Amino acid sequence: MLIVQKYGGTSVGSIERIRAVASRVKKTADKGHSVVVVVSAMAGETDKLINLANQVAQNPDEREMDMLLSSGERVSAALMAMALRSLGVKAMSFTGRQVGILTDTAHTKARIEKVSAERVKKALSEGVVPVVAGFQGITETSDVTTLGRGGSDLTAVAIAAAIKADICEIYTDVDGVYTTDPNVVPEARKLDKISYDEMLELASLGAKVLQSRSVEFAKKYEVPVVVRSSFSDNPGTFVVKEDEEMEKVVVSGVAYDKNQVKITIIGVPDRPGIAARLFNSIAEANIVVDMIVQNISSDGKSADISFTVPKTDGKKAMKLAEGIARDLGAKGVDLRDDISKVSIIGVGMKSHSGVAAKMFETLAEHNINIMMISTSEIKVSCVIDVKYTELAVRVLHDVFGLGGQSRSRRTKSSKQGKKK
Ligand code: ADP
Ligand code: ASP
Ligand code: MG
Repeated sequence: MLIVQKYGGTSVGSIERIRAVASRVKKTADKGHSVVVVVSAMAGETDKLINLANQVAQNPDEREMDMLLSSGERVSAALMAMALRSLGVKAMSFTGRQVGILTDTAHTKARIEKVSAERVKKALSEGVVPVVAGFQGITETSDVTTLGRGGSDLTAVAIAAAIKADICEIYTDVDGVYTTDPNVVPEARKLDKISYDEMLELASLGAKVLQSRSVEFAKKYEVPVVVRSSFSDNPGTFVVKEDEEMEKVVVSGVAYDKNQVKITIIGVPDRPGIAARLFNSIAEANIVVDMIVQNISSDGKSADISFTVPKTDGKKAMKLAEGIARDLGAKGVDLRDDISKVSIIGVGMKSHSGVAAKMFETLAEHNINIMMISTSEIKVSCVIDVKYTELAVRVLHDVFGLGGQSRSRRTKSSKQGKKK
């Protein structure tokens, strides 16, 4: 089999961990498989580099940021190749550039345009284990780019697609994909499999176990992905195409995201074209807006427009909003960074009603105020005060019967009184 194995920050977080991973790779290779390894920076390394940048500049230049951040993965790739060689495994480390990961120029969140993987293929054909530094690529003009936080997942999936790997294994610090973050809700249940669409929603809504772009890519090229722990031999969670069985489950997961801020432009004159102008200028700055709410004031003459953007883009978006507010003669601009977004996800929502109502009711019962709401066919999200995040995740996980215990209760009751 041709296997891509990606090891995240915690999995390569120390010399002992790098050694442990190297022996896992050796074990796979000894079984006769061809292995490509993709590594993240050692745990905490990327945050440390971001912190250094923020100490030398208020708004660090994004091109320079990518030069800096890409170095973390380079360190772990080289160390991993050395560890493998000292176990007698032929291995060679490569940067994103060396394996031909071509991206656009959106520094710090570049999109992959092409993957040649020539050197990966060459190494494999010579019986060498390629160890690829994750999270990075190169523009047409040879500038280094990074692929957004969690971007090593994308490197792994993109390489798996390019070399048509049989499986892309994502090794992390939990046993697989759970009904919600197992570090917040201990009762969370591990899923044996999850559909690409549900995984995509979970990931985009904050479950950082897989980077959302990597799931998008996996879905598009139908890359078989499994999420597993590098600390055990447990089987993990397969990310697969949707099947009928999955639609029977109404809500399959709860996610939260504390990495957004809410910006409100107050007292905007109520005229056609204003929202278009605001969101065009934000899009031109490469900022992805998530939720949008517009409220017309009681006199009907002005409106408040609120929207959320990633925390990292907060300052930039605020500046743009202030400029536009001034031009339009709006009353002011407000930024809140003490918010979080809590979401429920499930493909079964397509065919079940009352799910959103149950979510709102549950939050209300716990006195949690909802500031914004957004829905799609398979998810409902609410923006709430960040201090209630864990509480909201726990009560929603419980009310939708996702925990180990509640699930067995549900199985019992459905056996006793099956309706359909
Ligand atoms: P890595 O460094 O291996 O890439 P990450 O920290 O990016 O690992 O992702 C793993 C973490 O994702 C887990 O430790 C867990 O806290 C978090 N997580 C959030 N939601 C989920 C979920 N639904 N299932 C599993 N893990 C989740
Ligand atoms: N090191 C990068 C990050 O922390 C990429 C990754 O780990 O996937 O976001
Ligand atoms: Mg990650």
